[in-house]
Amino acid sequence: MSIPKRQSTAAVEAAMAPPSALPPLLAEDCHSGIPARHHQQAIESRARLYSNRTVPASTPRSQETPVLPPDVDRETFNLAVDELRKLLGAENVELNDKPLVDGWYMEHPNTHDAFHIVEQEDLVSSATVYPGSVEEVSTIVKWANKYLMPIYPISMGRNIGYGGAAPRLRGSVVVDLGRRMNQVLKIDGESATCMVEPGVSYFKLYEEVQKTGFPLWVDPPDLGGGSVLGNCIDRGVGYTPYGDHWANHCGLELVLPTGEIVRTGMGALPGKDGADNPTWQSFQHNYGPSVDGIFSQSNFGIVTKMGMWLMPATEHQTYMVTFPHDDDFEQIIEIIRPLALQRILGNIPQLRNVIQELAVLATPRSKYWSGSGPMPRETLRALAKKYLPTGDCSWIFYGTVYGPEATRNSQMATIKAAFGRVAGMKFYLPSDLPSTHYIHSRVKICSGTPELRELDWLNWVPNAAHTFFAPITPTRGRDARIVHELVTSLHHKWGFDSFPTWCVAGREMHYIANIVYDRADADAKRRVNGLMHEMIAAAAREGYGEYRTHLLYQDVVARTYGFGGQALLRLSETLKDALDPNGILAPGRAGIWPKRYRGRGFEILEAKDESAPKAKL
Ligand code: ADP
Repeated sequence: MSIPKRQSTAAVEAAMAPPSALPPLLAEDCHSGIPARHHQQAIESRARLYSNRTVPASTPRSQETPVLPPDVDRETFNLAVDELRKLLGAENVELNDKPLVDGWYMEHPNTHDAFHIVEQEDLVSSATVYPGSVEEVSTIVKWANKYLMPIYPISMGRNIGYGGAAPRLRGSVVVDLGRRMNQVLKIDGESATCMVEPGVSYFKLYEEVQKTGFPLWVDPPDLGGGSVLGNCIDRGVGYTPYGDHWANHCGLELVLPTGEIVRTGMGALPGKDGADNPTWQSFQHNYGPSVDGIFSQSNFGIVTKMGMWLMPATEHQTYMVTFPHDDDFEQIIEIIRPLALQRILGNIPQLRNVIQELAVLATPRSKYWSGSGPMPRETLRALAKKYLPTGDCSWIFYGTVYGPEATRNSQMATIKAAFGRVAGMKFYLPSDLPSTHYIHSRVKICSGTPELRELDWLNWVPNAAHTFFAPITPTRGRDARIVHELVTSLHHKWGFDSFPTWCVAGREMHYIANIVYDRADADAKRRVNGLMHEMIAAAAREGYGEYRTHLLYQDVVARTYGFGGQALLRLSETLKDALDPNGILAPGRAGIWPKRYRGRGFEILEAKDESAPKAKL
């Protein structure tokens, strides 16, 4: 299928109209909806995004549907799907044979990557199946083994920027766990823990915790619509002191690629009279090897339940510091390191570039500037002066301190004095800034309340999508300079604005470069692909590797971890072949291909100068 063409005026107007129904509310029959408290925000957010669309909401399919996975002919596929319908009920199996609809964050598809970098029809499933229990997940896995059918589990499929709900291998059957397995199974106010099924969003967990009245926080990432479980096993992060989600999970239940059901941690030891073990959510380790790690960012099992620690609510104070010069970042990071190591900074703070403060105002870039290529620094400077309450600045630091007032005051005094060494810095509290300022969204995120505001920078270009380039570097000014200069110069080369954010811990930082592009612009998509490949390779030469990446770059990123002639990848492949001898579970995810597919051209190892990578998807 070709990239949708620019439309006539009438078509543009039709495309701009959001769906007639209101965004769905979170309810028993809509696990992925928005809580009532955010409904108005969602309505406005959606209207803004649709006002920046120039292509129709859906496009006709150009290829025979459903798209088949490799090695499965249509007759076998139809036979297999008939059997799946008998096993799970016809209402729980859906063919992916209708027009593909990108939707938007709160009404996202489970058929393809809504933020397509390649063509919309490239990263697609053949069908979706909705299990209602761990036993049904096991049934699906056994069915997949019988037909050698690749399956791809998702929890919510809102992994936007990293591939969304799409399977890595084209034509795989998506196992959408969230639709029918979406309960908060337990909230324990004494031990401050919970247990969730795959379809529990941060929004939902937050609402359920509120209902209990326990003074507990969840730890949301920038947007609250993703699932707690999916985010955690893809090693997403949040911003309270519990922001390392994987480090705060406690106990898994999973289905192995053979269909066997396993519990990890203390859950492996049955509780009295068949009850769950009473310490399953309290102690992370079982006796023997600690196996949880191999089920994150991998394709070794389907997680059906997960324990998570919740943070006891506490007093908190968010603040913001602005810095005037582009070159200040080295000094800022040198200041952050000891503060973070000594835990004077209460959370993983963000150091954002001024362009993000402008983008999050939700005004399209074309209203500010009509040129092509990256926006010139002088234009940005003039815009910041005109539109930001903080005026012209280069870097904005968002931090939060926690605990009783005396503790916070003493931490704040140290932090202020430390940042005071940067000439021209300015310090702000939320009360110093207008009620519409982005800081109020950070206050919520950093104190356990999921949010939606971060979507607003998706209005920067028409039909906007984004992906992230996210390398890890030491928390050191000189490393910050290497990675920042590399990213900035390559963004210039490929013609994109650079949206850098550092999430800074004491020993390492995540540099998050957000690439925002127009999904209807084939050339922009080709350039995203070229830019990503070049950044991954250039960063790896400096010793910096991505912590997480989009489906299309998982092969190359996995290979940058190549010590010992790809010893780590070989270990993953050995595990894969032992656990999944038929290679049915998420082939290619995290760069791990089962024996059946290896070396047949499915790996994407380089960017060709086209919009689509050369390899088979
Ligand atoms: P979110 O729930 O945050 O929207 P996804 O459901 O998209 O996240 O999950 C992110 C990725 O993690 C998926 O693409 C999939 O590869 C993997 N994943 C998600 N849920 C599971 C699960 N329950 N078991 C195994 N892998 C999963």
